Amino acid sequence: MADGPGTIDAEASPAATRWQAIRKSLCPHCFRGHIFRSWIAVHERCPACGIRFQREPGYFVGAMYISYGLSLPPGFLLLAFFWLLLDWPFERAGAVAFLLYLPLVPFLVRYSRVLWLHLDRSVDPYD
Ligand SMILES: [Zn+2]
Repeated sequence: MADGPGTIDAEASPAATRWQAIRKSLCPHCFRGHIFRSWIAVHERCPACGIRFQREPGYFVGAMYISYGLSLPPGFLLLAFFWLLLDWPFERAGAVAFLLYLPLVPFLVRYSRVLWLHLDRSVDPYD
């Protein structure tokens, strides 16, 4: 079982894969330290290996592009369902799709940051 935020995942072996680390929101360098200290707040440094998560001011702006890309499929699927399949007016279908999409936003923000960290560290691993 994973420990709480601010700790090291004791079950994550050094040989854990990047995909396992992404799924568990673990450090992109050591795959052991938790990235988040709360639901959205990121640790300044990895509690296990000490690498800095936020490399520069505005670092997570890159995660917004990932979040945007992750948001499009569920948003369009919901819109298409209500507009094309149920034949609702476009404005009503869009409004309902938006309201149903809203609960996904915290998950998308969280995992877009995890994906951004792993993408950035795999391309440029050194500070
Ligand atoms: Zn680490």
